[in-house]
Parts: sequence; structure tokens; C-alpha cells
Amino acid sequence: METDEVDALTGLATYNVLIEYLEDSVPAEVLYIEIDEPARFNDAFGYDTDKRILLYFCENISSLLDDELFVRIGTYSFVIAKKNPSKPGELKLLADKIINQLREPMNFDGNLLYMTAAIGIASSFYGFYSAATLVRQAEHAMKKAKREGTNRIVLCQENRGFSFEHELKLLRDIPRAIENGEIYFVYQGQYNYAQKAFTGAEMLARWEHPVLGNVPPDIFIPLAEKSGMITPLMNKTLIEVSKMYKKLEEKGFDDFSIALNLSFQVLMEESFLDNVTFLLDAYGLKGKPLTFEIMEDTIPDHLESFTARLDEVKALGFSLAVDDYGTGHTSLTYLLHFPIDYLKIDRSFVHNIHQNRRNFLLFKSIIDMADALELKVIAEGIETREDDAILQQFEGITVQGYLYCKPLRAEALLKRL
Ligand code: C2E
Ligand code: CA
Ligand code: CA
Repeated sequence: METDEVDALTGLATYNVLIEYLEDSVPAEVLYIEIDEPARFNDAFGYDTDKRILLYFCENISSLLDDELFVRIGTYSFVIAKKNPSKPGELKLLADKIINQLREPMNFDGNLLYMTAAIGIASSFYGFYSAATLVRQAEHAMKKAKREGTNRIVLCQENRGFSFEHELKLLRDIPRAIENGEIYFVYQGQYNYAQKAFTGAEMLARWEHPVLGNVPPDIFIPLAEKSGMITPLMNKTLIEVSKMYKKLEEKGFDDFSIALNLSFQVLMEESFLDNVTFLLDAYGLKGKPLTFEIMEDTIPDHLESFTARLDEVKALGFSLAVDDYGTGHTSLTYLLHFPIDYLKIDRSFVHNIHQNRRNFLLFKSIIDMADALELKVIAEGIETREDDAILQQFEGITVQGYLYCKPLRAEALLKRL
């Protein structure tokens, strides 16, 4: 094995080995575990306590494994992968064992420590996409587990009904679908409480595949990224948005803002600025109220070129939003280094906010900080009147969700305004 395929501290394999192991193997299951900040013990028990905890933890887990692959993929995160499990959810048993083991204190030089963790499990039985997607699903499930409390296990059971073969077919069909309009766009209105009106909309891609029917963007966007088709897709988005601005102007909506999703990969491409500048000129997009949304969990920890790129986008006159805020690892103070305008608070905080005190407190503290940093806030995924009633006490915010507006075709949205 190459050195970068082995983790220096634990001797475990790393992400690339995991992907290779999972590639083309159906069925497979992935358990994603993240332990909660072992470094918090360093002050009390010594500077290398986190490392010792990690090693102890790895040893304990290894003793529970048969033929599964065990890899370290982040500072405090690990993946256990199993090929050919006999039934769906087989790794759930292992997850239970791990959580039981965590309930036992660790003994460090006579000091007793309790470690906690969150576990997410994804299984190809519920639809296999690609190795990377499976790992990502498990990671999302882990984040959900984390929000539910400590030592939780969440099983990702989304069945989208797309097999591995289907995924390959989609991959081949993407270029044509962008050309011929099978991939099109819908708009979801964003409602501002203070102005009591829709002040903008987010553009979302849809794919009506002739054989496979409706393919959700969560499936085809990662495929487009993988196959190099994501830039052509963004180009098409910009051309479509220019048409939308024309329609809006005809109806007298001059400062209605439109947000589009920008994948990190496209943003960082060498040719991104030239490409966008060209389209701006060609399609009369200069000076239009356009926002680019970037998903929080794709934002890197330390990358000067990223900040520089954001500055360049701002210089073109556009706004920037951090999407799905609260699902990644960034802190608001870290975000302060970026020239951003909007925070889109992830829908997991909004969901059931009228009953979930913890979500309410988290939401409120995000708003307080956003206010202090002069960031505008959009709350996502608002579905019920009860949640709406709670959110309305935050007067300055904008909301986006099925309660106010489902994603609609351009014409349908224009009628709603
Ligand atoms: P996102 O940017 O977080 O978009 C919001 C998603 O939440 C949309 O799903 C929307 O339909 C859904 N949503 C809106 N209101 C509600 C609600 O009240 N409840 C619930 N449960 N869901 C709600 P959609 O359209 O399936 O898009 C999924 C993701 O795909 C988007 O998440 C975005 O990350 C990505 N995506 C969509 N279109 C594009 C695109 O053109 N380019 C890129 N790069 N990514 C895109
Ligand atoms: Ca978005
Ligand atoms: Ca979002």
C-alpha cells in the first residue's frame, strides 16, 4: 500500500482504500461513526489524551470485527464497510455493540472517561448508487444521529429505486438530457416576513427521464459532477435564469432575486470566472440580483484559493449564500472570513421547531450570531403552520418551504407573485 493509503496514527486504511473496496460490490453496507471531540479532555488529562482515546477506541472496535473493512476518514470519524451482508441492516447489530462498549468507561491512568459517538448506516439494499454516494448517505445519517442526541444510531432507509445499472445509464444520458430539455428548472419562492411578500426564488433542477421517470437532483447532481457534466449544467442554468429575469421584468418585478446552486467543484474550476463572465455578457446578466448558494458541508477548512475565488465572484456583483447551514463543521466565526451575504439554515433545525426546544434554541442562537455578523437569514423547509408561527417571531428573516411555495415552473411562479 502507498503511504497515503494508511493513516499514520492508527495504521488503518483511508478513504481511497474504502472506495476501491466498495466499488462495484453489490450488496454492501457502510457504518459511519464519529466520536465526540476527544480533544476536550486534553486540558484535564494531558495534551495527547485525544490520540490515546482514538487508539483505544480503534482497538476496541477492531476486536468486534470479522471481515469488515475498518478505515479512518476524518480526524474523529471512521467507516466500517461490509460486502455481501446477508440481510439489510446487518451492521446495525455491530453498531449496537459499539454503543454498548462506549457506555463502559475508559480507564486512563486511573481516570475514568466516557466517550460518546454518533453512528449512521447506509445500505445498498435500499438502492445502490456509487461507493461515494453510499458513504455520503451514511455520513448524512450520522449527522442526523448527532442532532438527535448522544450515542444514537440512524439507519438511512431512503429507497429511491435506482440500481447500479440505472446509475450507469443515467451517467451516459446526462449530456443528451441537458441538451434536449429533459433536465429543466423549477423555482421555489422565498417569502420575506417583514415585507409580507415573495422577494426571491431558488432555482432547482429536475430531470424527467424518458425511461426511468423522475430522477431527483440528489441522484443526478453527484453523477453530473463525477462525469464532468456539471459545468455544462451550470451554463444552462445561467442561460435559463437570464430568460427568467426577462419575464420578471415584463411583469414589473425588477429586484426579485434568484438563487442558484453552485457546486464547489464548478466554483473552483480554473475556467470558472472566464466562463461566467462570458455568459454574463452574452446573456445580459450583469447587475442582476443573482445569488450563488454553496453547500456548507463542501466548504473546506483552510483554503486560501477558496476565499480568493469568493472575492472574485463578489466582484462580479453577485451575492453568496451558505446552503444547508448547520450540517457541516464550520463555525460562524470561521464563516466570517468569507464575503457571504446569506445563511440558509438547514431544514433539520426548522422541522418541528414548535415542539423541539433544542432546535428552537439552536435556531435562535444562529439568528443572534447572524444578526451580529450582519448576515441575512433564510430558513429552509418550513412545512407547517405551527412551525411558521414560531419562526414569525424572527421578523427579519425569509422563509422557504412547501408551506409557502412548492418548487414551480417559471410560468406558475410568475402567476403566484
Ligand atoms: P437544496 O439546495 O438544499 O434545495 C432545497 C431542497 O429542499 C429542494 O430539494 C426542495 O425541493 C426541498 N424543499 C423545499 N421546501 C421543502 C419543505 O418544506 N420540506 C422538505 N422536506 N423539502 C423541501 P430538491 O429540489 O430535491 O434538491 C435537492 C438538492 O439538489 C438541492 O438541495 C441542491 O443541493 C441540489 N440541486 C438541485 N438543483 C441543483 C442544480 O441546478 N445545481 C446543483 N449544483 N445542485 C442542485
Ligand atoms: Ca440550495
Ligand atoms: Ca438547502
